[in-house]
Amino acid sequence: MLTLKTSIYAHATVVELLSSEDGSKIERALVRTFEGKEIYFKAKQFIISANALQTPRLLLNSKRHHPNGIGNQHDNVGRYYMDHNLVPSGNFVPHDPSFINRLRFYDMQGIVGASVLGKLNLSPEIMRKEGLRNFAAMLFPMPWSQSDLDAMNSVSALKLHLMFNFTRFPKNLGTHLLNIFRGRNRLFRAVYESIRYNVPILLGLGRGGWSRIANNEKKYNRLEVLALIEQSPSPDNRVTLTDEKDELGCPRIKVHYTWNPQDIASIVRAQQIMAEALVETGLGSYEPPKLPAESVKTLTGTHHMMGTTRMSDDPRDGVVDRDCRVHGVENLYIAGSATFPTGGYANPTLTNLALSIRVADKVKEALTHLSKNLQYLFILFLLKSPLFMTVLSHKIR
Ligand SMILES: Cc1cc2nc3c(=O)[nH]c(=O)nc-3n(C[C@H](O)[C@H](O)[C@H](O)COP(=O)(O)OP(=O)(O)OC[C@H]3O[C@@H](n4cnc5c(N)ncnc54)[C@H](O)[C@@H]3O)c2cc1C
Repeated sequence: MLTLKTSIYAHATVVELLSSEDGSKIERALVRTFEGKEIYFKAKQFIISANALQTPRLLLNSKRHHPNGIGNQHDNVGRYYMDHNLVPSGNFVPHDPSFINRLRFYDMQGIVGASVLGKLNLSPEIMRKEGLRNFAAMLFPMPWSQSDLDAMNSVSALKLHLMFNFTRFPKNLGTHLLNIFRGRNRLFRAVYESIRYNVPILLGLGRGGWSRIANNEKKYNRLEVLALIEQSPSPDNRVTLTDEKDELGCPRIKVHYTWNPQDIASIVRAQQIMAEALVETGLGSYEPPKLPAESVKTLTGTHHMMGTTRMSDDPRDGVVDRDCRVHGVENLYIAGSATFPTGGYANPTLTNLALSIRVADKVKEALTHLSKNLQYLFILFLLKSPLFMTVLSHKIR
């Protein structure tokens, strides 16, 4: 039976992993603090769970016995970086606006402590038949009037500016204030509804609640189709180290990131299929998106960082094996979405957790095995040296 004790060290940045001379094992992790201290942590097993940007950074910066960085014998560390971009994919305009009141399934709701949101997906058969990437559409009600929409967008823009950039004067402040003045009635109403129905004032990603408000047909006449899309893994989308160093002396990273033409063609086709399916319901019409699919290159991602130390059976194709252990290094594991070989469209954290449980099981197995071997040593040495015995038994508990 293995007894686990956990100690957490905060403000301790690992800057390098130090391996045995033959490179087959990690022996120590070098930690640097902002006060200038350097501390070495020894362990039997190491797990990196520093996300898909910092994990490759650490591996690439650990070069003492691996000239290209740990796990990088086939130049895969940092490659196949992926995100889930958000692509506006047109509007669905119901013939009868009161239909919006029946779409509660597509509003974000708290169910047993989790946020749940219905989405429209392509079926696996269609994706296979047409060779398409994943595409999942969320539906957001849009106001009748352009001035209401502009007012909401301006409040959102100013709020974001205050949150992240409050020392600088906001761009287009005059236009925003004018928009807010023109849409003031809608905004007052939104504040009232927010208090009365306990819902957020502004609609948007991650903020549900609109379906709890009565008479939505008076405010909304169409639904924005906002798609979360899959990006295919490409070796050219990658994280590399630069010559510039941070305060701890670690190289900063550069992210090389673009969308390939096949992914863009897949978005266009998926939008067509989604539009046809919506119109076929006979419930409304479809307005095509204002931006071309090509604009995915500049639209915001969802910060679901994935790839960079991808899983593969063959060490030539990736960085970790199916147990998330780094190929060629017996005691180093990676937990998190850095190990995803493909990204799908779905939020990554539940899959992250599932893989982390797999890593924990494997590490437990390795430590139990080690502990059995140490017991064996313990018995061998028992007759000869009681002192040595004490040290070992202390280590394995
Ligand atoms: C704005 C935003 C919204 C998101 N929304 C969702 C969502 O709705 N659903 C979803 O499933 N996912 C979402 N994600 C993704 C989700 O946050 C990640 O999947 C998840 O946090 C990954 O967990 P992790 O522990 O692998 O990495 P992280 O949460 O990034 O944790 C890594 C930790 O490692 C530490 N670290 C890094 N480098 C070092 C080092 N060298 N030494 C010591 N410590 C180090 C960092 O400080 C950090 O604490 C969102 C992400 C963002 C940014």
